[in-house]
Amino acid sequence: MGKCLISQFVIVMKELKCKMCGISKKHSAVFVDGLCDQCRDINSLSSFDISKYLIELDKIIKKTESENKKIIVALSGGKDSCYTLLSLRKRYPKVKIIGVQFDNGFLSENAIDNAKNICAKTNSEYVPVSVNESELNKLFKKAAILKNPFGKKSILRASDLCTICIGIVKQKVFSIALKNDSDIVAFGWTPGQSFNPIICLSKSILEWNRNEFIKCLDKLSCKNIPDFVIDSDLLKKRSDSLFLIHPLSLLDYNEKKIVKNLKKSGWKNPKDTDSNSTNCLLNAFAISNHFEKYDLHPYALEIHGLIRNKFMHKKEGLKKLSKKPSRSSILLAKKRLGLDE
Ligand SMILES: [Zn+2]
Repeated sequence: MGKCLISQFVIVMKELKCKMCGISKKHSAVFVDGLCDQCRDINSLSSFDISKYLIELDKIIKKTESENKKIIVALSGGKDSCYTLLSLRKRYPKVKIIGVQFDNGFLSENAIDNAKNICAKTNSEYVPVSVNESELNKLFKKAAILKNPFGKKSILRASDLCTICIGIVKQKVFSIALKNDSDIVAFGWTPGQSFNPIICLSKSILEWNRNEFIKCLDKLSCKNIPDFVIDSDLLKKRSDSLFLIHPLSLLDYNEKKIVKNLKKSGWKNPKDTDSNSTNCLLNAFAISNHFEKYDLHPYALEIHGLIRNKFMHKKEGLKKLSKKPSRSSILLAKKRLGLDE
């Protein structure tokens, strides 16, 4: 009898969901009166904050423009990063921009075309970057096999495979910024992923970031670490801070409007990716691997954040999270990583 009551309680606890954003207890949310801790303390930007940040953004971008420097945009070819570039170009018609696309070997062909086209359309330079493919696949394979390789907090933010990829993208984008003596790098994080639109990265933060990523690569027994991180000589020479900007946090983020606007600029929706990605063919496997290892959806935190801050309807968000990743995509990715035996 007692055992039965306990198991019922466990089921109720597991299913407890926030009445506002729908997040469940397993994502480390703390509940009071049916609301998660984040919904009780909503930290979305007020319109005053947004205008304050836009003034700040205008100031740093005008400075870059007057010094004839370039803004580096991390460009996956997906809707969010392409829209980030498009929005920057609309607001700042004259500033020089480089769109950097990291090819993780699993980019949808459409994503490569989209990135190139959006650069051409916005008169920006397109720079593709890559690393040794077989070494990268070994890292993905090991990250998929290991449980909790990067700490408990990281599993709430992203899948282990995405954590690797995002880490490399950051290092590559920072490297290109240092090589070009740029002061600004832009990422297309949605308001569900990042709330701080402008972050100042000092040289010591860049060094810390590099060292933390080296620790991750070490855990995965990476054989060629310098290929994956900022060049140490470039970092030594750098004295100024780097601004990390997230323009989507300052816009009225709405997925449908973004796609509609992008399509007017020639952007095409990929047919071969899963519903949580508009650029990567590894994503379906990354999601299923995360579910298998942790019983967590890697996009839950972001999507519940978008719901909480009214950038997405609850129904739409929950539908996205309940959609099963494509089995054929999962099998294809497993085969390429040698995980199908
Ligand atoms: Zn909530």
